Amino acid sequence: MNKVYLGLGSNIGDTKENINKAIELLKENLNISITNKSSFYETEPVGYTKQDWFLNIVIEIETTLKPYKLLEYCQYIESELKRKRIIRWGPRSIDVDILLYEGFKSNDKDLIVPHPRMCERAFVMVPLYEINKTIEINGKNIKEIIDNLDGEEIRVKKDG
Ligand code: AMP
Repeated sequence: MNKVYLGLGSNIGDTKENINKAIELLKENLNISITNKSSFYETEPVGYTKQDWFLNIVIEIETTLKPYKLLEYCQYIESELKRKRIIRWGPRSIDVDILLYEGFKSNDKDLIVPHPRMCERAFVMVPLYEINKTIEINGKNIKEIIDNLDGEEIRVKKDG
C-alpha cells in the first residue's frame, strides 16, 4: 500500500456535489481506500479571476495503484464529471491532482510529483496541513511552507 495525497477542486455548478461525486468514484475503485479527508475550503480563484470561488479538499488515500495508473484513474474521474476546459486556469467542474505519492518523485511532463505548484497554493497547503501536520515537501516542513504563503484568501466552508 502506498500513501498518497490528492487535491480536489471545483468551481462550476454544484461544487460540493462535484467533489462528493469524485469521492464516490474514488471509493468505487477497489485498489483505493480513503484514509483521511480535510474539511471543505472555499478559495479565491488564482490566474483567471473572473470566475466563482473554488471549493477544495485534500484527501489521503492508500492505494496499490502505481503512479501512472492512479493518474489515469484521476483523469477518468475528471472525464466522468464532464470537465470542460475552455480557458486555461478557467472554470472546471472537477480537478483531481496527485499532490504527493509516498516514495515516488517524478518530473515527467505527464506526471510531476510532488505537484509542481502545490507549495504556492494555500488551497492545497492549508487542507493538507489540517490532516497531516508533520509532512515534508521537497525537504521542507509543511508549517514552514504555510507560514511563508501570502495572498489568496481561503476559508473553511461553514456548512461543510
Ligand atoms: P491541470 O489542468 O492542472 O489539471 O493539468 C492536467 C495535466 O497535468 C495532465 O495532462 C496531467 O498529465 C498533468 N500532470 C502533471 N503532473 C500532475 C499531477 N501531479 N497530478 C495530476 N496531473 C498532473
